Amino acid sequence: MPKLKRLLVSACFETAQRRRQCSRNKGHDISKGDRCLVIKENMSKNNYCMECAQLILEKAKEDLNGLILELDRND
Ligand SMILES: [Zn+2]
Repeated sequence: MPKLKRLLVSACFETAQRRRQCSRNKGHDISKGDRCLVIKENMSKNNYCMECAQLILEKAKEDLNGLILELDRND
């Protein structure tokens, strides 16, 4: 069977090895030892604090749910 195309970009939680800055809001600090969401897209790599990670994941879920609803529509 052909390999399934993955819709999601590569994302994972990591523990910050040093102090980082949230890519969505430069005012959000990610301290050393904090967990953060790392999203690799094309050639760039972005870190997000847990607050933004939750918003990003919830938005992704909404987007997917919207697509799934359309998939089931019969018109
Ligand atoms: Zn943030």
